[in-house]
Amino acid sequence: MMRGKAEMKRLGIYLHIPFCRSKCLYCDFCSLPHPQAEQTERYVRVLCEDLTRRAEACGGYLVDTVYFGGGTPTVLPDAWLAEILETVFRHYAVSPDAEITAECNPATGDLAYFSRLRSAGFNRLSIGLQSAEERELRALGRLHGFADFCRTWEQARMAGFRNLSADVMSGIPGQSTESRLETLEKLCELEPEHISSYDLIIEEGTPFARMADRLPLPDEEEGRRMYFEGIRFLESRGWKQYEISNFAKPGYESRHNLKYWNCDEFLGFGPAAYSDFLGVRFGNSRDVAAYIDGREILAESETPSLRERANECVMLQMRLCRGVDTVEFAARFGMDFEACFGAGLQKYVPHGLVRKTARGYALTPQGMFVSNSILSEILDFSEKL
Ligand code: SF4
Repeated sequence: MMRGKAEMKRLGIYLHIPFCRSKCLYCDFCSLPHPQAEQTERYVRVLCEDLTRRAEACGGYLVDTVYFGGGTPTVLPDAWLAEILETVFRHYAVSPDAEITAECNPATGDLAYFSRLRSAGFNRLSIGLQSAEERELRALGRLHGFADFCRTWEQARMAGFRNLSADVMSGIPGQSTESRLETLEKLCELEPEHISSYDLIIEEGTPFARMADRLPLPDEEEGRRMYFEGIRFLESRGWKQYEISNFAKPGYESRHNLKYWNCDEFLGFGPAAYSDFLGVRFGNSRDVAAYIDGREILAESETPSLRERANECVMLQMRLCRGVDTVEFAARFGMDFEACFGAGLQKYVPHGLVRKTARGYALTPQGMFVSNSILSEILDFSEKL
């Protein structure tokens, strides 16, 4: 018997597009620079076949978010992105109000391109700015300038996108708190619905890792100022922080990313994509060539115990400003949150790092800055589960 849409379980779909025009100096994502047309065309075909093959297992699910990430999805011709999305529509039950996002880089796409994406069903773009300062963009090895970003932004708006997000970065070589605030000021003038603000991390194997001792990185104190001044600035302008690195106008929180932080189900397609579906967590290798050749790329798979799930959920939900709801936690895991984590969290309350909310606990902005050490301690405490 067919289930009504209201009763169907919700599912997010992630589609990895592992191609970029060039490689940024800090980038550790699974993305190949300078893709050949034949390679990308075959990739799209295999991705569509993969989507079709796995649809059968999703019969009882309503897809309410679709996210094209990368890489840079918009290096592909718009018709190919449309074809992938059309495959999702054809084989999955997709909610009429699904959030459908494509990551995009400045100077990939123009008005006609974005208009066709909009007609295909995309309703959100996440555009990588990183910085509005040319010197900082060059230091990161980005191909675009701020003017390219503004042009791309304007064309996306003209094409009808009413939900735009921008990524910015802190901790860039040569960056100061002042230059970061100037970036935020310039970005806010464009009225984004959503802003993601990430710290630069020096990842092993990247050009930045090889030159780490020569990079003029902001020191710890400057990093701290950037974080707190950035929050203060964005909140004063009406972008509310809802997660450690994310800010939104009311109602524009990323519904797809909230699935990750709320430990909801999602299916990932393509190399380096992860899934959490039917109680199993599994991830693909980064082998793009193997995927294109149709070889198996499943690299890991595990069925976490309830205890592991509970720990993971606390770890992820404490990233959210709303924190953990102890009533929801008890209903989901059948465990008493207070007994498992309460004492561990309580001791940070007098230090202003954790706050009690109406129904649970949350990190304060100060607590978020040191979230790793707090969470590693309380999750050790969970051994009592
Ligand atoms: S555009 Fe993004 S995915 Fe591509 S190389 Fe740069 S950081 Fe990596």
